[in-house]
Amino acid sequence: MVYVADDKRYEMMTYRRCGKSGLKLPAISLGLWHNFGGIDKYENGRAMVRRAFDLGITHFDLANNYGPPAGSAEETFGRILRDDFMPYRDEMIISTKAGYYMWPGPYGEWGSKKYLVSSLDQSLTRMGLDYVDIYYHHRPDPDTPLEETMAALDLLVRQGKALYVGISNYSPEMALEASRILKSLGTPCLIHQPQYSMMARQPEQGLLQILEEEGIGSIAFSPLNKGILTDRYLNGIAPDSRAAGPSVFLNQGEITEEVIAKVSRLNDMAAKRGQKLSQMALAWTLRGGKVTSALIGASKVSQIEDAAAAINNLSFTDEELAQIDRILA
Ligand code: NDP
Repeated sequence: MVYVADDKRYEMMTYRRCGKSGLKLPAISLGLWHNFGGIDKYENGRAMVRRAFDLGITHFDLANNYGPPAGSAEETFGRILRDDFMPYRDEMIISTKAGYYMWPGPYGEWGSKKYLVSSLDQSLTRMGLDYVDIYYHHRPDPDTPLEETMAALDLLVRQGKALYVGISNYSPEMALEASRILKSLGTPCLIHQPQYSMMARQPEQGLLQILEEEGIGSIAFSPLNKGILTDRYLNGIAPDSRAAGPSVFLNQGEITEEVIAKVSRLNDMAAKRGQKLSQMALAWTLRGGKVTSALIGASKVSQIEDAAAAINNLSFTDEELAQIDRILA
């Protein structure tokens, strides 16, 4: 059936300026790291992207290596674009990244100009796009001069293959240096993508402060801590959950009794706020406006609906914030 986007989609979401740029991102963005690979059901992924867009989620995040197999999430997304979204391309912010291992030999990972330029060409081919909206360096490279990596990002913007550039998993010090180099090249860093959630608070140790000072936006990945900050594991490990599945990025050993005891208390708190725990976790990440967008993953349409509704209550009392800190201490 031909997809026609919901007329009311822009009434469902709020949009936040990304740093000091002209670009606004939805408070909730959708990442395609899991559940969009060659091993996954195409129609489920397609339904999730359709529903996300209908809820005002305009931003979709990919990387060269998402799958499995690596590259297949971009191929799936390219197919979804061709099937449903060609009329809506100008309403979408599509990002991809390079940094992790993608192909054999010395040019298939890290941060050389050779790798970043070749990888974006491959990503554009897989997605059937002329350009991406945001191109990220996915992880810092200890060996390549940062000047070379940033010059590669700047080059790709000048070539029209990316509109904006970003960095991911960079320390505060490296982010500051990258920002200064990019500014000197005339292509300011749009965004940083760190892991950030109630259970992963590293960005509070200087990174968020530097981003604010530099005018760089931020998008928090794994804001639900890969599913742990939801009701998913409260009653054991469901067979269709990420922890039970083939992903090597969440193993059952992480879901300990101690973790679940804390999650259960957070779940009670969320209920008192009239939210699901997943919604409270997203609201917490977005509280105070320091983070531009929360970048969720999903395995089913209903999870995207949960996430989009989180924006209805983003405020916390001081006592609630203190209680969350006590529970997770
Ligand atoms: P989340 O922390 O949002 O975890 C998503 C998972 O949580 C879902 O797949 C689902 O797991 C579960 N879940 C989501 N909503 C609900 C709900 N309402 N109720 C119960 N369970 C729910 O994020 P991800 O770890 O998936 O990461 C999100 C995105 O961040 C990625 O797609 C990617 O774009 C980006 N990312 C970037 C990285 C980087 O290095 N830059 C690294 C990692 C991620 P289940 O399968 O069990 O249903």
